[in-house]
Amino acid sequence: MTVMTTSRWEGKIFQGNWVQGGGESIAVHEPATGKTLATLATASVEDVGTAVALARDAQKQWAATPFDQRAEILRNVARLLKERAALINEWNMRECGSIRPKAEWELHATYEQANMAAAMPMQPFGEIFPSSMPGRTNYWQRVPIGVIGVIAPWNFPILLGLRSVLPALAMGNAVILKPDIQSAICGGLLLAEIFEDAGLPKGVLHVLPGGPAIGDALVRHSDVGMISFTGSTPVGRQIGETCGRMLKKAALELGGNNALIVLDDADLDSASSCGAWGSFLHQGQICMQTGRHLVQRGVAERYASMLAERAAKLVVGDPATGPVHLGPLINERQAVKVENIVRQSVSMGAKLLTGGRQKGLFFSATVLDKVTPEMPAFTEEIFGPVAPVTIFDTEEEAIALVNSSPYGLAAAVHSRSIPRAISVASRLKAGMVHINDQTVNNEFQVPFGGMGASGNHGRFGGPASFEEFTQTQWVSVMNQGIQYPF
Ligand code: NAD
Repeated sequence: MTVMTTSRWEGKIFQGNWVQGGGESIAVHEPATGKTLATLATASVEDVGTAVALARDAQKQWAATPFDQRAEILRNVARLLKERAALINEWNMRECGSIRPKAEWELHATYEQANMAAAMPMQPFGEIFPSSMPGRTNYWQRVPIGVIGVIAPWNFPILLGLRSVLPALAMGNAVILKPDIQSAICGGLLLAEIFEDAGLPKGVLHVLPGGPAIGDALVRHSDVGMISFTGSTPVGRQIGETCGRMLKKAALELGGNNALIVLDDADLDSASSCGAWGSFLHQGQICMQTGRHLVQRGVAERYASMLAERAAKLVVGDPATGPVHLGPLINERQAVKVENIVRQSVSMGAKLLTGGRQKGLFFSATVLDKVTPEMPAFTEEIFGPVAPVTIFDTEEEAIALVNSSPYGLAAAVHSRSIPRAISVASRLKAGMVHINDQTVNNEFQVPFGGMGASGNHGRFGGPASFEEFTQTQWVSVMNQGIQYPF
């Protein structure tokens, strides 16, 4: 496998043109090997100001561009994503430690998002309302917000950046994307090349790799009309506070501690397969990770041993060297956190059924049994390959356990009785509930988002993307001039 670099992005940031970044240059390390893959230029706070000014100017022309031309550019983006799949997937694997199937799925989902966004500019986005005034027409239309800042995380950098960038552009906004520095090549610079080659006018999209200070400068800039943030709850809360003070729109997609409920009439073979996928895909570094397995007492022992049997078979290693099930964790901090959660929970009485082994950034698929609600494996968002199993007796108890978490992103319910599963699902605090499936699900045409500490109730996908990335304007038209009493 070869990682290709191109002269266009190396040592540069994207401001419609490829320019030197004002921030420090940093080495991009491959998590699996520690090797240096490239040198990444980062943006400075001044670069944020320049980008916002360029974007503000370019947005007016972009919003006035006929819808079919905007749609064509987005169709070009979809085509180029597909044509450059091998390159992007390779970077996703080596820069972020993704296994190949995860990288391929992520690119495919992004391709679908691009097709969906390309269809947005030609949809109706207004309504006509009656008026009590004779001779008056009322209509209500969606108009762009202006310049939108998109701040993305490293775990699904392509999808989670572009699920905001694409619909925002489709609706006539300009966008400044700030990828995480741990995923800025596949989640930023390779994508900037695609938009440039797709024919997007200069200045409409900017890609500014950088850390929290760059994200913060974007949030605080008065000419940025909206922030679309995907990341952790503490940072989202901080961004929400700033945006609230500035009366700026904020779409916040945050963390989760997602439960999979196994009722005593469930198909345990399927439930344990779902449980393993939900907990271990991408080493558990997914906001929708199945972070809690709540199992009814009568089937708990069997479920836990079936889950442990599946986990013990999973191969951990460098995704670039051959097929593995789990690659490396993203960084040392994450590895230490996962190890601490497992160790503390075991010291409080959890039973380690399998895994718990750590070698550098590689962590084996781990199943903890007899986890109780006081343990960190239950209360914390783990973001690592750990499946904690907790026993419950009644449906009410299971529902209370799920809803005791401040988070409310995704959940799953397993039962052979669909009415029973639906009855439980409808009482869960979760923005997305999957019956007889696992918690990690994303379909571009269905609104996606969380409740509680998992977000501020914004939604991505399908009809929700129109709502998120526009504002509305009431226009009334009198057929002829009107006289008021004075
Ligand atoms: P993070 O919050 O540390 O970082 C996310 C992004 O925010 C990065 O680009 C980072 O540079 C930037 N950032 C950090 N501090 C900032 C600040 N003060 N101001 C502005 N920007 C700032 O999150 P992470 O560790 O990269 O990602 C993991 C978290 O993201 C998990 O909690 C996970 O659940 C969550 N997540 C949520 C979703 C979702 O759709 N709900 C999807 C993926 C990840």
